[in-house]
Amino acid sequence: MARTTTLHPVRPIAALLLCAGLLTGAAHAQTVVAPAAPAATTAPEAATAPAATAPSQVRKANIVIVGTGGTIAGAGASAINTAAYQSAVVPVDKIIASVPEISKVANVKGEQIFQIGSESFNNERLLKLGKRVSELLKQPDVDGVVITHGTDTIEETAYFLNLTLKSDKPVVVVGSMRPGTALGADGALNLYDAVLVASSPESKGKGTLVVLNDEIHTGRDVTKSNTFKTETFRSPFGPLGYVVEGRTLYYRLPARPHTTATEWDIDRIDRLPEVAIVYAYGNANPGSVDAAVRNGAKAIVYAGTGNGSVGEYMVEPLKAARAKGVQIVRASRTGSGVVIRNGEQPDDKYDWVVVDDQLPQKARILTALALTKTNDTRELQKILWKY
Ligand code: ASP
Repeated sequence: MARTTTLHPVRPIAALLLCAGLLTGAAHAQTVVAPAAPAATTAPEAATAPAATAPSQVRKANIVIVGTGGTIAGAGASAINTAAYQSAVVPVDKIIASVPEISKVANVKGEQIFQIGSESFNNERLLKLGKRVSELLKQPDVDGVVITHGTDTIEETAYFLNLTLKSDKPVVVVGSMRPGTALGADGALNLYDAVLVASSPESKGKGTLVVLNDEIHTGRDVTKSNTFKTETFRSPFGPLGYVVEGRTLYYRLPARPHTTATEWDIDRIDRLPEVAIVYAYGNANPGSVDAAVRNGAKAIVYAGTGNGSVGEYMVEPLKAARAKGVQIVRASRTGSGVVIRNGEQPDDKYDWVVVDDQLPQKARILTALALTKTNDTRELQKILWKY
């Protein structure tokens, strides 16, 4: 059962002071019950209000911050450990307490659902998180949800929620590249920005968003592109907007259907089919396809070279897998661009499908969802092109 604690941080603390008490459970903030807000709250109009406008005079949004772990909950041995540290050790309440500025823009509640590195997400955890967020969004006194998350798989979780949540309320997934103990830690500002974005009425109806490094991305497009830099997140067509000096600025809208406009409802999904990714490389082992089939894959996303190309020695194993009923989805390992149907391979002839521009890890999410609705190749292809 998820634990919910209501917080109202009362005094600022520096990152290093926080570091000193991180693992001991030392209280850095007084915990009090936040004032009850009316059901239909008006969140601060962050896009038009200057940063310093007396926030206490506007009604604050009620935001629940759901903690899952990651580097934003990480701690290093010293301040110079920006990339080597232990992730997922700081409770979400402590992370919130370390950013007292948040209390000026929203009434926040922390809830710890997991404490894991995001590389340890699996289908069960994804479903549990989605269902809990869905429950929260249904509460009339919740205006939006922020999820603290590891950056490694933030793009998968955000795409999944973007496709399955049935609410217009803002949902923002946030992480950091450096633990709170590091020089130049990015988590505090990222979390503040995420709460700001989740509190903004302008964020309604834009699907699941990912906020890091001053940018607002759509969960559909965003991907991690660098192992250690804070500017690692990119979307092939650019972010939707910026967060600057406490202002939420949008410049684009997501073009593909999301949340309320999709065919999936997280409340109705209890299991996701197994979908494997097989990665292409010179001298790839054809046995990797058989291994995926033996391990129960209902579909294989083939992360092909270039435009989803398939080496000649991989074609027969993939055809054999398809003959056993396993769907074959051609994707690309290049990192961007569309895969052309019947381009590098005769998909019609082999009864394979192609991604649109989804990266293999995103295609894995979409294919698993698609298989909850259909096993018809033509329908699967339509879904891959639609979302
Ligand atoms: N391995 C970490 C995670 O994804 C990295 C991070 O959060 O930046 O949980």
